[in-house]
Amino acid sequence: MNVIECAFCKGKGKDPFELLSKLATCQVCGGTGKVEVKEPAIKCAFCKGTGVYPHDGRVTCTVCNGKGMVTVIGETEGCPKCKGSGQEIESGLPCIKCGGKGVILKK
Ligand SMILES: [Zn+2]
Ligand SMILES: [Zn+2]
Ligand SMILES: [Zn+2]
Repeated sequence: MNVIECAFCKGKGKDPFELLSKLATCQVCGGTGKVEVKEPAIKCAFCKGTGVYPHDGRVTCTVCNGKGMVTVIGETEGCPKCKGSGQEIESGLPCIKCGGKGVILKK
């Protein structure tokens, strides 16, 4: 386990988009500004480490759940389908092959 700064609120502990109120706590870290990720972790390709769902802009990334990092265990290589972007080119949804991580496990 590794404790990192919450990507969604950038460590502030507050809902960055103030959807509920200015005082609402961040739903990802529960207001602590920190989240735990299992090692080894890489930057989430789908949201580019921001923790924010790319096409909505106000909800958490469904790939990393807002943490900005995803756990990938084992040897990996770039996903050939999305070319490491984590996104389906036509739909903009998380890549089916890599699940939005941008990498796949080496065979
Ligand atoms: Zn947070
Ligand atoms: Zn993400
Ligand atoms: Zn992919």
